[in-house]
Amino acid sequence: MEIPENKGIGMTSDRTRDRLIKRLKDQGIVSNSVLERIRNVPRHLFVDEALASRSYEDTALPIGLGQTISQPYIVAKMTEALISSVKGDCILEIGTGCGYQTAILSSFFKKVYTIERIRSLLIKAKQRLRDMNIYNVQFRHGDGWKGWSKYGPYDGIIVAAAAPELPDDLLEQLNIGGVLIIPIGLPREQELMLIKRNYDHYETKKLGSVSFVPLVKGE
Ligand code: SAH
Repeated sequence: MEIPENKGIGMTSDRTRDRLIKRLKDQGIVSNSVLERIRNVPRHLFVDEALASRSYEDTALPIGLGQTISQPYIVAKMTEALISSVKGDCILEIGTGCGYQTAILSSFFKKVYTIERIRSLLIKAKQRLRDMNIYNVQFRHGDGWKGWSKYGPYDGIIVAAAAPELPDDLLEQLNIGGVLIIPIGLPREQELMLIKRNYDHYETKKLGSVSFVPLVKGE
């Protein structure tokens, strides 16, 4: 299938993307490789056509079934935190959604594993990434609370939905030296946490307040 790259040109033009990149810089994103990747991944292809004109605004947008595509600033912030703290090249993402963050991450790591509990979202995300010639991602339909032990331990785990507490399985599936980035808390009072697994203990750092859809237990 041909990617309708130029559909809605104007709304999705270079200038519109430049404005988003400037906004991310103003908010404190410093990694040029993250900013470049965000400029180059066509976010308008991850949302419904009706929302394409808003796709380069720095906001979360609905993707159906009560879920959202994350705000670009949050994707940038989480990606920046991940690439600056992860040493290896194998990561796990929980909450594929439309696959936008997955597409961003795919250029920074050799292998990305991603899990989504809503099958229809997963199928569409898989198709989008294939259309964009991204081949280093493995998709799974299932419950991300349990991680994906088959391919672990991972150098990094990134969770795109908020959990009331830290999922034990995810902590266990981290490599020594690996990091987990996850929003923790109840709706409207969540904190983005970075947890590093050291040889004999976990180290925790707070990265700021965030607002994510809930991480649901079970499929
Ligand atoms: N990563 C997306 C954001 C997705 S929103 C982006 O780039 O925009 C969070 C996603 O997490 C939703 O699609 C939701 O269905 C999914 N989710 C919630 N609980 C889950 C669970 N236990 N396992 C896997 N996915 C889950």
